[in-house]
Amino acid sequence: MLLYNLQIIIDLAFQFLFMNIETLAIQSTQMHDKNAGAVATPIYLSTTFERAEDGTFPHNLIYSRIDNPNRHLLEKSLAALDNGTHAFAFASGLASISAIIQLLKAGDHVLIGDDMYYAAAVLIKDIYGPLGIQLSSVDMTDLEKIKKSILPNTKLIWIETPSNPLLKISDIKAIADIAHENNALCGVDNTWATPVLQRPLDLGADIVQYSTTKYFGGHSDVLGGAIVVKNNDLGEKLKKIQVFGGAVQSAFDCWLITRGMKTMPLRIKAQTENAKKIAEFLSTHSKIKCVHYPGLQSHPQHEIAKKQMKDFGAMLSIEVNGNQENAFKMASKLKLFTSATSLGGVESLIEHRKSVEGVNSATPENLLRISVGIEHVDDLIEDLDQAL
Ligand SMILES: *Cc1c(COP(=O)(O)O)cnc(C)c1O
Repeated sequence: MLLYNLQIIIDLAFQFLFMNIETLAIQSTQMHDKNAGAVATPIYLSTTFERAEDGTFPHNLIYSRIDNPNRHLLEKSLAALDNGTHAFAFASGLASISAIIQLLKAGDHVLIGDDMYYAAAVLIKDIYGPLGIQLSSVDMTDLEKIKKSILPNTKLIWIETPSNPLLKISDIKAIADIAHENNALCGVDNTWATPVLQRPLDLGADIVQYSTTKYFGGHSDVLGGAIVVKNNDLGEKLKKIQVFGGAVQSAFDCWLITRGMKTMPLRIKAQTENAKKIAEFLSTHSKIKCVHYPGLQSHPQHEIAKKQMKDFGAMLSIEVNGNQENAFKMASKLKLFTSATSLGGVESLIEHRKSVEGVNSATPENLLRISVGIEHVDDLIEDLDQAL
């Protein structure tokens, strides 16, 4: 395990320093295959690896739950993109959040935002609650409220920024400082921003986590989760949780994610440009009550977004005039936006969130969440216009 960590740190230090993210996304995902010189990465489906006569492991590989060439490549690239030293790939975003909660012990308290990704809040409350993890939520845009919500046993402050589905922005640096003053870790679900737009470890966070199902994969065809840290102790603990918890990502799925990562900076650039134009168009439309997008000057945390993000991303939510029925009607009239959950793929999606989250959800009933794709923005705007 020590050898593994050293190898990653050395690789990162010598290969990837000072590269722009577009270059890094290509370079860090190249395998440099020694068997055939294949330019595209081969897929290593083998679950087990041959030992030498003296019992050692000549390729530092034992068994695919512990490490696998495709996972190793993905993790090296994930660490490079987020300026971390250790990265871990999991079978889904939720499996990676679960691994982070497993860093804690019974009696520890986790503070989350009041609009945390719905399924993650269910995971912590219903699965880890009975095992002794205490949970409470707060408005993560209000630093004073955060300070007041910290308990003597608070061990983790969990940020999601931009948040789902209201795109609230939390000040990562300020909250990381609050966490550290209170001996707690600061973790960031960076799924919506990705390292292309925001690097939480550089802003002081201890842990960054992803559902790589979204922008990393980018084609709505693979589930995945990831964690990146830059602390050796956390890295060792997470490696143990990953290997013995067993929720690792399969070789093929790792291959799909590294393939997606090569175009992630380009896709996000195109998607963000589209999202900005759509947000501007909708914010002046008479049938729209409001648009939640951090790139709009009217967004309450626009300045914080400008400070900590390279750009504002490709997710937005709109509230149509009227109620749930009006929202469903609008979504059903769209021809280019598929009505489906999830986000971050090349195709535009729209979703009525409240009906997914259930009756207890605080999401407004007239809200539709939009994941903007890479189609031509004029076609997307025309489609939105006719549906309204
Ligand atoms: C989708 C998502 C998750 C969950 O990830 P899965 O890959 O579906 O398990 C967690 N957080 C955010 C912000 C997400 O969008």
